[in-house]
Amino acid sequence: MTNADDEREKAAGICRNCGELFTVWRTRDGTVRPVSSHNTCPCADPSPRVIDGGEVFDDADPDENGEAHPGV
Ligand SMILES: [Zn+2]
Repeated sequence: MTNADDEREKAAGICRNCGELFTVWRTRDGTVRPVSSHNTCPCADPSPRVIDGGEVFDDADPDENGEAHPGV
């Protein structure tokens, strides 16, 4: 059986263009796209990539605690 929802997972993403952080879908074929067009950066053509777990953000809000971590 194939479950469409099983072919993608939520991940933390960042826009290559502007550095905005947002949640993305990461699919098995490596495609990364925002989970919602309402929850992305203001770029006309966002270029998201998945953030590695150990990556540190200079721009990150230091109060960013208690945020959900899908898949953890
Ligand atoms: Zn952007």
